[in-house]
Amino acid sequence: MLVKNALDYGKEESEIRKLFEYGKKRKAEIGAENVFDFSIGNPSVPAPKSVDESIKKLVDNMDSVALHGYTSAAGDLEVRAKIADFVNEKYNAGISAENIYLTCGAAAGIAIVLNAIVNPGEECIVFTPYFPEYKVFLEKTGGKLVEVKSDDNLQIDLDAFEAAITEKTRAVIINSPNNPSGVVYPAEKIQGLSDILNKKQEEYGHPIYIVTDEPYRPLVYDDIEVPYVTNYYDNTFVTYSFSKALSLPGDRIGYIIVSPKMKDSADAFAAIAGSGRMLGYVCAPSVFQRVVADNVDVTSDISIYKKNRDLLYNALTEMGYECVHPDGAFYLFVKTKGDSREFCEKAKKYELLLVPADSFGTPGYMRVSYCVDTAMIEKALPAFEKLINEE
Ligand code: PLP
Repeated sequence: MLVKNALDYGKEESEIRKLFEYGKKRKAEIGAENVFDFSIGNPSVPAPKSVDESIKKLVDNMDSVALHGYTSAAGDLEVRAKIADFVNEKYNAGISAENIYLTCGAAAGIAIVLNAIVNPGEECIVFTPYFPEYKVFLEKTGGKLVEVKSDDNLQIDLDAFEAAITEKTRAVIINSPNNPSGVVYPAEKIQGLSDILNKKQEEYGHPIYIVTDEPYRPLVYDDIEVPYVTNYYDNTFVTYSFSKALSLPGDRIGYIIVSPKMKDSADAFAAIAGSGRMLGYVCAPSVFQRVVADNVDVTSDISIYKKNRDLLYNALTEMGYECVHPDGAFYLFVKTKGDSREFCEKAKKYELLLVPADSFGTPGYMRVSYCVDTAMIEKALPAFEKLINEE
């Protein structure tokens, strides 16, 4: 007998993947240049040159057996030390190599953390709109996802958050810059979360953890600050990924930081290591551990995303679409006219591939990924106009 949840998730692809596959088929039928594919968050900007140079340098200079061999389960200690130095210099976070566990991207990072901290029957809070895979990652823990509705600006509603916390709350996931809204949570919101959680931990007598999911941290525009959460709240796990920042999504590399300020931080790290083992996620890809260590302070050229954001945001709002101004990531989160699934289905008539936001916990919206060629956005604008003006 197959495991039912596994079978269901395997058969039921995510809405984004389904649309992406539809797009591939449509491009084969009518030519890629005639399909306006805004479906997936695959970075359109190439990895920085220094990434390619690191790969070449490693292949040319390092002993092949050592380069491709297993590292420690948590990752190479030198690599972890370089990441720790960078994070300390940039955010004054006071971490060390021993607080870092390298992972196959943020997906593995979040799955590992949730499986280390959430017991069956416990609750994990997320803020709408949220990355739909959180529900899938939580599945194996036997925990329950609790959605808290964000305010009209898609910012955290602190009162609604406080009201949603129960004795069973074990974790809160925050994702800033946010996929799909592009919203960044400012310091006041993080401080607000921290104050409420400290009060609730005291009341219930057990820890409640913040899990920050931050693959988009460096993708912010116009001098926006993304607060470093360990500096606000002690019981924090950071999950980071180089997928978006260095345009390396297929190379599967990221890390978890267990805040050293956490009480029993050494045990928490041991639980992360154990969870990694249980899920079969020991030793992240060894070549790319070293590549990111060489490029820890480098980011892809995000000026292209900013240009795309400005072009698309200005054009769509001018046409009458409503959306919050995204400060980061590479998504525009737009209100749909009527039912979002129907609206995005209608969009296919104009060869526009847009993701209905129902699975993000926010029906009535759609996500438009602008990590695409600027020329495609320009060419797609008349289609957006026709779509909103269709009766
Ligand atoms: N979290 C968010 C919010 C994402 O958007 C993504 C990928 O799109 C992930 C996690 C997973 O990223 P990774 O490629 O690092 O596994």
